[in-house]
Amino acid sequence: MGHKHKMVSPDKTPRCTISVDVDSIDSVLKFYGKKESGFNGKDPVYELAVPRFLKLFDERGIKATFFVVASDCRKPATQKAVREIILKGHEVANHSLDHRFAFSLMPKSEKYKDIAESTQLIKDTCGEAPVGFRVPGYDVDEETIEILDRMGYSYDSSLYKFPAYPLMRRASYVNLDEVPKSRIFKNLPAEVFYSIFSPMEPYTPSQGRFWRKSAGRKILEVPLSVVPFLGMPFNTTFLFLMGPGLFDFGLWSTRARGGNLNYNFHSTDMLSSGSDKLSLNHPGFRLGLERKEEMFRDILDKVKRYYEPVTLRSFCDGLRAQNMLRRPV
Ligand SMILES: [Zn+2]
Repeated sequence: MGHKHKMVSPDKTPRCTISVDVDSIDSVLKFYGKKESGFNGKDPVYELAVPRFLKLFDERGIKATFFVVASDCRKPATQKAVREIILKGHEVANHSLDHRFAFSLMPKSEKYKDIAESTQLIKDTCGEAPVGFRVPGYDVDEETIEILDRMGYSYDSSLYKFPAYPLMRRASYVNLDEVPKSRIFKNLPAEVFYSIFSPMEPYTPSQGRFWRKSAGRKILEVPLSVVPFLGMPFNTTFLFLMGPGLFDFGLWSTRARGGNLNYNFHSTDMLSSGSDKLSLNHPGFRLGLERKEEMFRDILDKVKRYYEPVTLRSFCDGLRAQNMLRRPV
């Protein structure tokens, strides 16, 4: 544990972060307009997917961050899985109270209530308050950053520098009851604007304009990795759509520019319509589980060739410590 205070030499293997968005099965079903799960009472996310991720990370000697939907913590299966996540040395972070889509469109008071309640639920389950947040659908905004900063969160990791995302996100909300139709496309031009001009590397968000870097706030924003210039994500959802070769290109281009790697998986990546009897038309569900596990092992082996994967919490602590060391004399 004592290595926190060690000096970081410049030629040391760079650290990177790997996370899992543990989207609740309810939020996945909600997205497809379904209510009944019909999984024989088993929670596919916490009883199947999370243990599979834990096994994969264990095999590869990787420490990761699990963004959990806090309302899931009321279920015994989640409590058991979350304890296992912590026991294995990973981090449990906050993925909101119940994965409300169009998070940025909620009134500020509702955002506050969501974050305060979810923080408390995770604290009650883990014995320690979460220090990291990821907005459902990466729908981050100024108010959310302000609330997180005030609550003492160490970091947010929601920004995807992909200019098409705001439009894709809004278009997917059209069929969701919980999103007010009249406001779906509100702020769209602004979101496209800041997805183009926001930093690619971890930064302290400016007061009032979270997508700009400046001193002042304590919280860090750790953007998710995209292919530079194209702004294309290469997370697993995109690999299922465009082929596993996209990962090699994403990794190569990130390394070529000396950039930070912040890579994310989803709980649904470890589920499969065949072996788990899931009848949703979700990206990657039709691929066999063995095939996907092979693909993920390959991804992690490539990452480990060039980076040391750590939790986002420890990554951010490290950044702050380094900044202290690098202050001008
Ligand atoms: Zn999510």
